[in-house]
Amino acid sequence: MAVVEPIESADPQRRRLRYRSPANLEPIGEIEIQPAAEVRAAVERARKSQPQWAALGFEGRARFLQRAVQVLLERQDEYVDVIVRDTGKPRIEALAAEILSSCDALQYYAKRAERILADRTLSVHLVKSKKLKVVYKPVGVVGIITPWNYPFILSLNPTAQALMAGNTVVLKPSEVTPFSGALLRDLFEAAGLPEGVFDLVQGDAETGAALVESDVDKISFTGSVRTGRRVAETCGRLLKPCTLELGGKDPMIVCADADLERAANGAVYGAFVNSGQVCMSTERVYVVDSVADEFIGKVIEKTAALRQGAEGEFELGPIIWPPQLEVIERHVKDAVDHGAVVRTGGRRNPDEPGFFFEPTVLTEVTQDMEVMRDETFGPVLPIMRVPDEAEAVRLANDSSYGLNASVWTRDKHKGTELAKAIESGCAVVNDCMISYGLTESPFGGVKESGIGRVNGELGLKSYCHTQSIVIDRFGGKSESMWFPYSLKKLNLIKRMMRFIWGTPLGRLLS
Ligand code: NAD
Repeated sequence: MAVVEPIESADPQRRRLRYRSPANLEPIGEIEIQPAAEVRAAVERARKSQPQWAALGFEGRARFLQRAVQVLLERQDEYVDVIVRDTGKPRIEALAAEILSSCDALQYYAKRAERILADRTLSVHLVKSKKLKVVYKPVGVVGIITPWNYPFILSLNPTAQALMAGNTVVLKPSEVTPFSGALLRDLFEAAGLPEGVFDLVQGDAETGAALVESDVDKISFTGSVRTGRRVAETCGRLLKPCTLELGGKDPMIVCADADLERAANGAVYGAFVNSGQVCMSTERVYVVDSVADEFIGKVIEKTAALRQGAEGEFELGPIIWPPQLEVIERHVKDAVDHGAVVRTGGRRNPDEPGFFFEPTVLTEVTQDMEVMRDETFGPVLPIMRVPDEAEAVRLANDSSYGLNASVWTRDKHKGTELAKAIESGCAVVNDCMISYGLTESPFGGVKESGIGRVNGELGLKSYCHTQSIVIDRFGGKSESMWFPYSLKKLNLIKRMMRFIWGTPLGRLLS
């Protein structure tokens, strides 16, 4: 049984999809897939609107984003209803991770973009006759493609950054959660955004591919490694910049001197929030042997106390996209077949009609198991004992992914040094999940976890072309390096080189 079902249609150009809730299987709506021609038309409208949008300046654009914050505050319950219907996640997670963080993103960039993207004058170290300015210009039209796990914030956050940098945006939200994606249209219409500044196209891979192929100036993609690779291939052929926020297999290292109570609470939250459907979920734990028994005991006890459901108070909702459930089951089965022990959970929840997998703790796992190597994207926490921290770091780095990581120790200096030794775009000491939530923190991956950074100053600048402008300071009829050439000029250059890099005074000035 699938939550997303194609509807039979006589017209192959007008495909439709029908939806049912992953939590209780109730029908929730239908969408029509938008074909490539409609994607191109949206991009064309965005292209036409971009110069006026950029001309509004930071203050003018910020006013619209700040109005959007007020709309979010007014409509929060209505929006949470839609997100919960699409995903089945607990209301508190829909509110905190999707709406609250969206308010923060809109307000943060509205308030700070002008300072972050202000023209800079840089001092020039050798050629003192020149002045150097660096300016940040919008790239133009940004195409944004997003996944289903946090369908609102992962669409809103890059959009807020692209808009504040002076770009117009065409968004293609995930076809798995289209109604949450569509909330952005409602939001920006209610905020009074001028026509064509933000547009949304609904559809699946075909619509996404059409957006990448279209006349957009940059692609901001969040999703799986598999799709990210395809997007990058097309962008490479078209020489189009792209930011790729891809999957993870985040390691957690528990040192012997960790606060085990906090570490166990962190492991359970990091592995099971949003039912493990987070790019920076804690997907594998390496715990130092001397504290492993106590740590594992605490994690099992806390995991067994978690509640799953579709109504009322609960911590874990369903698996949002049913095919993901098959990946989760495959990873657990492979682990058990190769000697892992299920300490709690380990199966679909038989008491729920929807797509629920019980929060699962595995021990006796080995590094070569699928559950330790590939992204599970579900509520499964494999824990492995290691003799010491050095081995934990070695195993943490033995991965094709490198998104986030966490280190747990009472010694913050040691924690920071261990974090530095981990090959990841982000890392956390004595916490988890927080990297994307700290708006200042540049977020992104190394290795197969992605290319580029979102958020903070780096993220905002990634929606700009950096232009350098060199200005001559003193004038004069010619420059010493211009024509005509002569032996005298050649010897002068040689003497100058000897002075600058061959004498102590020159090196001081260089
Ligand atoms: P996905 O790659 O299947 O889909 C992502 C988006 O790409 C969807 O909108 C989809 O319609 C679109 N798409 C599919 N094929 C396309 C194509 N050929 N060209 C253009 N667009 C195409 O990913 P998903 O299953 O929706 O999301 C889960 C994945 O996203 C996980 O791997 C997770 O780790 C990752 N993710 C990463 C981050 C991050 O910030 N690093 C955040 C959230 C999720």
